[in-house]
Order: sequence, then structure tokens, then C-alpha cells
Amino acid sequence: MTQYPVPSSPSWSTLVKSLFLLVYFVKIFFAGTQLQTLPLGHRFPMSKYELLKTRVSQEMAFIDLIESKPATEGELALVHSPSYIDQVFSGTLPSTVQKAIGFPWSLGMVDRARCSTGATIQAARQALKEGISANLAGGTHHAYADQGGGFCVFNDVAVATRLLQVEHHRTSAEPFNVAIVDLDVHQGNGSARIFREDQTVFTLSLHGAKNFPFEKECSDLDVELPDGTQDAAYLSALAQALRTMTSRFKPNFVFYLAGADPYKGDRLGRLSLSMDGLRSRDEAVFLWAREQGLPLAFVMAGGYGHDMQETAQIQMNTFASAYATWLLWQSQRFSLEAN
Ligand SMILES: [Zn+2]
Repeated sequence: MTQYPVPSSPSWSTLVKSLFLLVYFVKIFFAGTQLQTLPLGHRFPMSKYELLKTRVSQEMAFIDLIESKPATEGELALVHSPSYIDQVFSGTLPSTVQKAIGFPWSLGMVDRARCSTGATIQAARQALKEGISANLAGGTHHAYADQGGGFCVFNDVAVATRLLQVEHHRTSAEPFNVAIVDLDVHQGNGSARIFREDQTVFTLSLHGAKNFPFEKECSDLDVELPDGTQDAAYLSALAQALRTMTSRFKPNFVFYLAGADPYKGDRLGRLSLSMDGLRSRDEAVFLWAREQGLPLAFVMAGGYGHDMQETAQIQMNTFASAYATWLLWQSQRFSLEAN
């Protein structure tokens, strides 16, 4: 009589892992999308945040959407000057600064800027715990310590960077190095200036050479791309930039500004990436972080498509890539803990 091997029961670690992946969600933070109302015809597409939130909640059952808390004055003051914070809160910014920001002042503008910064802070803390998280908005990288600009009031990633470092140093004297990978099509000038003298933060910016801001700052690594750059050239430049950064800097944490505006159908982009190219870009960053075991928080940054549905699709693709990475994180973590 033929003897068949008795199938072995699945190990405890496999069972626990399967259960974990079934019941856990990746946590994503958002600022209330109705906080700030803009005048009719304003050129900033505020509706894109609501569109993205609706699509994520309807189509991505694995994402747990959590409304953020506003950043406190103390948190903002880790980066921004007290006088600037006070002027923003009280609506007494000089008209030139208000104009540079590009939004009319309102309490809603203040609330939204604080809540969006809060969402990036919460995403960063969450990523430290579970490997990856995000803010459904954020990436306001044109804000300097004492001045906003380009639709950016507070520099959310800079504030979250400093806060993570402060919280780390409550229990450890070891350095906590942060890499800011800024792939919005516009240079992260505010972040570059804020961290210009800071050896614990590496600012990498890939951006359109001829695009806003027209007076660039010096990031730790700037990659300036000509108008019309397409997928292959962009992805090659990105791979090289990640290699260069890794050879010069050893991060403990990554912020990724996943701007949708290098897309060929963007009104403000000037580059010519396809949707597939942007997906490959996201995958390259997520893969790079995972290979090095680096927790990563990502933010949406810019996206000004002629068709806002396309902008939302690019961002949805970023979430799908992030989720695949998150699953790998969790399964790796569980196999480590089970062994
Ligand atoms: Zn941008």
C-alpha cells in the first residue's frame, strides 16, 4: 500500500502571521478636507484632497484612515520662528508673505496648515512603529522657518523630522539621522534651507531645473532635470541619486515626498513621466527603504493635473505600492519575532 506523507500542520508563526495580515490595516492620516475654503476660481485644486480621500476609503479596504490632530505651537516652533507662527495664527502676516503663500488668510487656512502638519507627525510616529505610514496631504516643502510660499504655510516634514529627533533623544544619545527624499517636481527649497547646516538630516531633491522656485537653495543633493524628461532618464537619475545618498549618509528614517506633478499631464510640471514611470519611481523608493530596513513616512506633495482624476490615480498607485511594501515589512517582522 502506498504511504503518503502526512501533511505537516502550519507552524504557529505562519498562523499568527496570516491572522495578523488579515486583521491589520496600514494607518494613514488626513487633515479635515473641508477645513479651508478658497474663493471661487482659485488656482489651487483643494478638491483633490477630498477626491483622494473618497477613493482611498472606497477602494482600499486595507487602509485605516485616521483624522489628524493639529500640530501645537510648541511642535511648530521646532522649525518655525515664534514671530512667524504668531503672524500666521493671528492673520497679521505682511501682505507680501501672504501673497507668496498664495492663499488668502482665514482661520480655515491656519487650521488646515496645523492639521496637515499634525498628520505628517502622526504618520512619522506610526511609521516608526510599523514600518510605513502616510499623510493624505502634506509635503509643504516651500515653507521656510520664517516665511511660507508656494501654497505652503508650515513645513510639515521639517517639523516632523525635528520632533522625531527630539523624541528619540529623550531615551537615546545615539544620533537619529533622517533622509528627506523629495520627488515633487519643484525643488524642496524650504527644507533645503532649514537643514542646510544640519548634519543629521540629508535633503535629496529631484526637480525640474527650470521650474519654480526660480531661486533654488542648496540641498545636500540636488538633481536638476531638463524640461520634458521622460521615464527612463528620470528613473536612472533617481537610482543614481539614491546610491549617492546612501554612500554619503546613513539614515535611521525616511520621509518621501511623492509628488504627482512630474506627470506629463500636469499643469505645473514641465517633465514628461508616464503613470507607469511614476509607479516605478514609487516602487524604487519603497524598495530602497525596505532593503535597508528603514521606516518610511510619505506625503502627497504637489499634483496639478489637467485632469484631477489622473492626479488621484497616480496617488492611488503610490498607496498600492506602499501597501505591498508594508505587507513585506509586517511579514518580515513577524518571522523575526516568531523565531
Ligand atoms: Zn510641486
